[in-house]
Amino acid sequence: MNTQYRINKSVLELKVGDITEEDTDAIVNAANTRLSPGGGVSGAIHRAAGPGLWEECKKLGGCNTGEAKLTGGHNLKARYVIHTVGPVYSGSASDSKNLRNSYYNSLLLASSHNIKSIAFPSISTGIFGYPAKDASLIALQAIISFLEEHPEIELVKMVLFSEEDYQTYKSSLEKILKDRK
Ligand code: ADP
Repeated sequence: MNTQYRINKSVLELKVGDITEEDTDAIVNAANTRLSPGGGVSGAIHRAAGPGLWEECKKLGGCNTGEAKLTGGHNLKARYVIHTVGPVYSGSASDSKNLRNSYYNSLLLASSHNIKSIAFPSISTGIFGYPAKDASLIALQAIISFLEEHPEIELVKMVLFSEEDYQTYKSSLEKILKDRK
């Protein structure tokens, strides 16, 4: 399952899949503040990348919510992993700001390392409890605004882990694009 949309000069793709298998220049990890492997998508990325990823993460001194840090991809197909910490959902106004920052700062870091293609998981909507529909609107709006200013990123993929999440992101994206017309 997969759909592509053109945003300015770039492509935004929604797909169902396992992000550890992506061959984009970078994949994004929905990390925790210690940058330790943990569970969910982070555990899967660390397992697929091998122990060298945790060795590299240990040296970075953690990561604050909404910020992003870069490592190598180790045994992954992707050359880089961008680790970003999304908000633990609390229902307060800072949630959406932090989630937007996670996407925006990951893309900014990618751009500064000449990364042309990047794959995101649905940050914060698993263990961190962010409602998927709200999160999808914030994520997609952040990606679209970034691509409008930064054509140097050629491809952004949202890799959703279930068909249900894919449908949520697809209807949010169609709503955003329709409202922009
Ligand atoms: P967070 O702590 O930020 O909520 P999680 O890892 O718990 O992060 O979940 C984020 C999203 O990643 C969830 O939608 C989950 O289903 C999804 N996910 C888990 N494993 C993978 C994977 N291998 N590839 C892509 N998405 C995944």
